[in-house]
Amino acid sequence: MTENALQPTFEDLELLVRVSQLLTLRDLNDVIGQVMQLTGEAVKASKTSLFLHDGSEVDWNYIFTARSMDDATSSHVVRSVLDKGLAGWVVRQRQGAIIPDTDTDDRWHIFPDDTLPVRSAMCVPLMYSEQVVAVLTLVHPQPNHFSEYHLRLMTIIANQATVAIRNTQLFARLRERQRQLEAVLLSVPDMLFVLEKDGTILLINTGAQQILGLANRTKAIGSHLADFAQHSDIFLTVVETLSNRPPLPDEQYSFEVRNSTGRQQDYVVNISAWEDPTVTNGGYVVLMHDVTTLRNLYRFKDEMLRIVSHDLRSPLAVIAGYADLFQQDLPADSFMQEYVESIQRSIERMGNLLEDLLKVRQIDEKGLHLEPNTPLADLVLSVFQGAVLASRQKGQQILNQITIPTDFVASVDPTLLRQAMENFASNAIKYTPEDGTIIIRAYLIDGRMVYEVEDNGIGIPPHALSQVFDAFYRVNARQNASISGAGLGLSLVKSIVERHEGQVWVKSVEGVGSTFGMWIPLYS
Ligand code: ADP
Repeated sequence: MTENALQPTFEDLELLVRVSQLLTLRDLNDVIGQVMQLTGEAVKASKTSLFLHDGSEVDWNYIFTARSMDDATSSHVVRSVLDKGLAGWVVRQRQGAIIPDTDTDDRWHIFPDDTLPVRSAMCVPLMYSEQVVAVLTLVHPQPNHFSEYHLRLMTIIANQATVAIRNTQLFARLRERQRQLEAVLLSVPDMLFVLEKDGTILLINTGAQQILGLANRTKAIGSHLADFAQHSDIFLTVVETLSNRPPLPDEQYSFEVRNSTGRQQDYVVNISAWEDPTVTNGGYVVLMHDVTTLRNLYRFKDEMLRIVSHDLRSPLAVIAGYADLFQQDLPADSFMQEYVESIQRSIERMGNLLEDLLKVRQIDEKGLHLEPNTPLADLVLSVFQGAVLASRQKGQQILNQITIPTDFVASVDPTLLRQAMENFASNAIKYTPEDGTIIIRAYLIDGRMVYEVEDNGIGIPPHALSQVFDAFYRVNARQNASISGAGLGLSLVKSIVERHEGQVWVKSVEGVGSTFGMWIPLYS
């Protein structure tokens, strides 16, 4: 090295080539080891050490040194050198420094376990985005060993080494993220497949591996989803769906499907597209969620509804008939009259409940029968007139605020919509004391019909508001206990209104009153 002429020698150039090869390394320890070795050799240092910042924490976490140190010693060294020593000075000044004679420079610290004699030192920062990410220190037993040329050469090496170190740190972080993501994917209990556009499997999770009966997840990679059709014919449905209607990027769609090979199972399948614009590659992520238990419960519920609604109606009609006959035969002043009336009231309550259950089934089973040109004002008015009778019997006042033009027609299912509107009205009458007031309001706005029933009845406590539209839900209040009902009416209303693509809502203050409302979009 011709340091006097400050001209790079062949060895220096070779050194730079070797340093540039650091960029190909993926392991941080390899990079650091090589940096220390190359720099040490280039300036003939007797010892090299490196403090490294891990890039995310505030602390300096790593120390690599030619001599071995246990953890406690190393953290002590790091702290005192970075506080008062040469490395600390370099970090603060963000520039390299030479100590020609360590005996006369305060920045030089001698540790009790230092066995090697040191008389001169050189220290350079490794900078990345204006931040010092590492500090490299080289020492020599003779004073005045290091020159300005050495410092310049080390600064050049430091720049290259910084990029190499940063690369390995980023690579490690990327790998860590990838492992985290993989752990998340694997822990999803559903079946997950990542497919190429043609249905070739790129990745499956443990859930999918189990259903495919594979000993190893990697065995599925490269196969086609259809190859596994013998395990579940759902795979064929998925492949067919993808070839008929592949989802667009950012689009996701789901469907429910029943497996008929082997054990019968129901799945909700979610398919979304993925795309890698950098390599014009893409495919689909298929997630299959087992909903067999839920579906079995639904089937059980339907069966129960069928039994209850049909098979209980006939015996109940027989009981009602005999109770009536019995009453007719009883003398008017018999004490038994009271008992029979009680039986009749119970029969009526059971009859109403069966009626509600039957309606639930009918609505579940039958589709919407839209009748175009239904005169809406007439429909709402007939609901109002029905309510007038019932409310008068209870001594309530009922007000008509229907402003829909009489000649306005729309396409609705009049039978179902009447049922829904009647339900709001009959509830208002039921849950409002005698001499209360009920308002039935209906108007057109922005292509919708709004229908509201307001009362000044018992109201609903805030905690119950979000549940009143749930099936079988009844507010558990004392005033409510004496009013009969099955908690099905509002859930029917909600289902009818949603079938019309509309919405329901409720506003209520306990003890003050309630307003139940619905809107439906209008089509002619
Ligand atoms: P049901 O009236 O048969 O119990 P609904 O589904 O029609 O069933 O109503 C559910 C619950 O909502 C009722 O039990 C009642 O507690 C409450 N509710 C409904 N309408 C009103 C109203 N107008 N005022 C106060 N509470 C109401």
